[in-house]
Amino acid sequence: MRLSTITHLAYAVTLVLTAISASTFILSARSASQERTAIQQHLELDDLAEELAVIAESRTDEARLYVMRGDEQHLARFYVDDDQEGHLEGSIAKLSSLGLSPEEKTMFDRIRNAADAIDAIEKEAISAYRAGRQNDAQQTLFGDEHYRLHTELLKQVEAVRASVTARSQVAVDAAKARSDFFGNIAKSMLVLTALMFLAVLYFVLSRRVALPLIRMSNVVTRLARQDYDVEVLDDGRRDEIGEMNHAIQIFRNNGLERERLDAERRKDQRMKDLMLQMMHRVQACQNQEELSDVVSRFMPQIFPDAAGHLFILKEQGSTLHSLGQWSDPAASELHFSIDDCWALRRGRPHFSEPDGDDVICHHIHMAENSNLCIPLTALGEIVGLLYLETSVHNHASPADRLYFELLAENVGLAVANLQLRQRLVGMAKRDALTGLMNRRSLDEALNRLVEDPGASLACLMIDIDHFKRFNDQFGHDAGDAVMQYVARILSEVVTGKGDVFRFGGEEFTVLLPGLTAEDAEKIAEQLRQSVESSPVSYRGRLLDPVTISLGISTSPQAGTISTVLERADRALLSAKRNGRNRWIQDGTLDQQ
Ligand code: GH3
Ligand code: MG
Ligand code: MG
Repeated sequence: MRLSTITHLAYAVTLVLTAISASTFILSARSASQERTAIQQHLELDDLAEELAVIAESRTDEARLYVMRGDEQHLARFYVDDDQEGHLEGSIAKLSSLGLSPEEKTMFDRIRNAADAIDAIEKEAISAYRAGRQNDAQQTLFGDEHYRLHTELLKQVEAVRASVTARSQVAVDAAKARSDFFGNIAKSMLVLTALMFLAVLYFVLSRRVALPLIRMSNVVTRLARQDYDVEVLDDGRRDEIGEMNHAIQIFRNNGLERERLDAERRKDQRMKDLMLQMMHRVQACQNQEELSDVVSRFMPQIFPDAAGHLFILKEQGSTLHSLGQWSDPAASELHFSIDDCWALRRGRPHFSEPDGDDVICHHIHMAENSNLCIPLTALGEIVGLLYLETSVHNHASPADRLYFELLAENVGLAVANLQLRQRLVGMAKRDALTGLMNRRSLDEALNRLVEDPGASLACLMIDIDHFKRFNDQFGHDAGDAVMQYVARILSEVVTGKGDVFRFGGEEFTVLLPGLTAEDAEKIAEQLRQSVESSPVSYRGRLLDPVTISLGISTSPQAGTISTVLERADRALLSAKRNGRNRWIQDGTLDQQ
C-alpha cells in the first residue's frame, strides 16, 4: 500500500474517532444535565413538600392560638398562611404535571386532600369560634379528626419526599452512569485518537524522514568510500529529502563518470606504456626472429581483442610471408603476393569487413571478422604488412586505428633497419665479386676455433693456376668471371662440410672443422677435378681450362690452429712448384 494511502486512511480514522469522541462528550454532557435536572426537581419537590407541611403546621398553630386567645392577629396570619398554602398547592400541581410518577401524584393528591380537609376543619372551627362556640372550636382543632388528618398529611409528605428522593436517586444514578459511560467512551476515543495521531506521526516521521535519512547517510558513507555500486533511492519525492536524494544521485553519476574516465585514462596510459616498451624493444632487435618475438608478445597485451600477423616482404621479392602471429588469427593466408592486398597496392591502411561497402583483400578468406591491413613502409618502400583481425563486435576504434598505424610505422622502420643492417653486415663480411665470405670473416672464424681447445680442423689454401693469363688474354671482366666460376664450384662442393672464403686476389681458403687429413685430401681432389672438368665460357667464347692448386694442413695432428693457414700456404707453394693442378699435404713430399 502506498504511503500516502496509509496516511490518508489514518487521517480518516482519526477524524472518525474525533467525531465519535465529540458525540460521546455531548451525550455525556447531556446525561450530566439530566442528572442536574433530576436533582433540581428532587430538591424543589422536597422543599415544596416540606414547606407545605411547615405551612400547614404553622396555620394550624395560628388557628389554635386564635380560638384559644381570640387575638385577631393570629387569624390574620392564619389567612396569610392559607394563601401561601394555596400558592404552594398550585406549584405542586404544576410540578406534578411535569415529572411525577402516578404513585407520587396519588401521594400529592392525598396531601392536597388532607390539607383541604384540615383547612375545612380549621375554617369551620374559626367560624364556630366567631359564633361563640369556643369549646366546639377548640375541640375541633385539638380533636382526633384534626390530629389524624394532620398526621396523615405529614405521613404523606414524608412518603412523597422519600419517593421523590428514591426516584431522583435512581434518575441521578442512571444519568451519572450514562454520563460516565459516554464520558469513558469519549475519553477512550480521545486516547485512541491521540494514539492514532502519535502512530501516524511516528509512521510518517520514521518512514518519510528517519528511514530515508538513514538510507541517505549509508549511501553518502559508501559514496565517500568511492563505492559507486550503491543504489541511490530516487522515489520522485518533491520535498527537501527528495531534493537531497536527487543531489546525491547527481553526485553518484558524476563519481561514476569520473571513475569511468579514470579507468579509460589508466587503460590508455597502460596502452601507451606498453606501446612505448614495444617500440623500444622493436628498435633494439638484432634480427627478424627477435622482432617477431617482441611484436607477438606485446600486440596481444596492447590490443587484447585483436589477433594478427606480422608479414615481411623478402628483399627484392613480391611475396609476403608471416614472420610472427598472435592470438590465433584465422582469416588470412600465410603467404601471398603484394597484389593480393589492397593496402599494399595502395600504400594505405585498408579495412576489410563482412557486409561492408569496401572490397576485401584476396589473402583474406574468412569474411566473419573485421580485418585491418596496414602497410609497413620505410623511406617510401614497402617492407611488410601489419595485419589485425577483430570480431565484428569489437570494432577497432579510431583511436585504436591511430595506435595501430603508429606501431606499424615503428615496426616498418625496424624491419627496414634490420634489412639495412643485414646488408651492411653482408657487405662487411662478404666479398662483393664472388659472394664468398672475406678475409676478415676468415680471421674471425679462425679466432673462434683457436679459442676452442677441443677444435680439430682441416684447411685448404687454393690458388687459380696462371690466372693472370685470363686477364691478359680476355680482359679483367673475363678474369672476374673465372673467379666467380671457381668460387661457385668451391661453394657447391664444400656446402655442408665447411666454409669457403676468398683469401685475396685469386686465392681461396676452405675451412673444414672436424675433418681429418684424409677427408681433406678427398675434398681437395674433388675440388681440383670439378674445376678442371668444367668448361668456362665468356661472352660466347670458350676459355682455356681452369685449374687450381691446393695446399692442405690439419690441426691438431700437424700443428696448432694458429699456424694452419701458414702451413697450408706452404703446402700450396709446394703444389705450385710441383707443376700446379694438384694438392699437397703440409709436411709431406710433393704428390699428384
Ligand atoms: P700462378 O699460377 O703462379 O698463381 O700464376 P698467376 O698468374 O695465377 O699468379 P699471379 O700472382 O702472377 O697473378 C695473379 C693475378 O691475379 C694478378 C692480378 O692482377 C689478378 N687479380 C687479382 N685479383 C683480381 C680480381 O679481382 N680480378 C681480376 N680480373 N684479376 C685479379
Ligand atoms: Mg696467387
Ligand atoms: Mg694463381
